[in-house]
Amino acid sequence: MPTLAVIGGTGIYEMAGISLIEKRLIATRYGEVKVSIYATGGEEFAFLPRHGEGHTCPPHKVNYRANIMALKGLGVERIIAVCSVGSLKREIMPGDLVLVDQFLDFTKSRPSTFFDDEAIHVDTTEPYCAEMRAVMGEVPTRGFRLHKKGTYVCVEGPRFETAAEIKMYAALGGDVVGMTGVPECVLAREVGMCYACVAVVTNYAAGISDKPLSHEEVIAEMKRMGASLQAYVVDCLMRVPPKVGCSCKKPAKPS
Ligand SMILES: [Zn+2]
Repeated sequence: MPTLAVIGGTGIYEMAGISLIEKRLIATRYGEVKVSIYATGGEEFAFLPRHGEGHTCPPHKVNYRANIMALKGLGVERIIAVCSVGSLKREIMPGDLVLVDQFLDFTKSRPSTFFDDEAIHVDTTEPYCAEMRAVMGEVPTRGFRLHKKGTYVCVEGPRFETAAEIKMYAALGGDVVGMTGVPECVLAREVGMCYACVAVVTNYAAGISDKPLSHEEVIAEMKRMGASLQAYVVDCLMRVPPKVGCSCKKPAKPS
């Protein structure tokens, strides 16, 4: 059973050139999820395209609870998630990677917890696995510029942000903005899984660059970076220690 998993975002629908062992349809109480199992370097890992095969599911409709529960059911302990983001800062440039270490949650209407019927409050002081981030920060970056920390602003979407919103997010301490990082990260923590996020900067956010951005622009940039990005993510998977020496596994505490 794989203990490692990759959640792929825009531009990463499958792991090209890596041995596919099998595809499994996993039933959870939140719905069915299709997960692929790959093997490389003697290590098996699960791969789950967040938006479904063919990128058909928009960010605000992704079944985050089913996705995380399916990986948990498989025996996964550690997740590397790939999220495409816009940059809120000139110095974080399109084509850069950010190992985000904090988030600001501006989502509005998505189911965001497994604890709907119990008063359980999970600790998200440090929402991303510190041990995984430390290891991943030392992996050769395949030509990418890597920012070892950053604050991810999660918005509801599917529209892009207004220039005024972007100004506000930047003023509040945000570094990058995306639509999929939350509640995925929180749900992983609720079930005691380690979660690290590689944010891939595909564009400057509204008002940061001179020209308006388009969905095509985001897709084209992800496609251009796809092969190197996959290689970096797989390198990270191979380097992440199997033993969990962090605090992500601590059970959530009832209030
Ligand atoms: Zn951890």
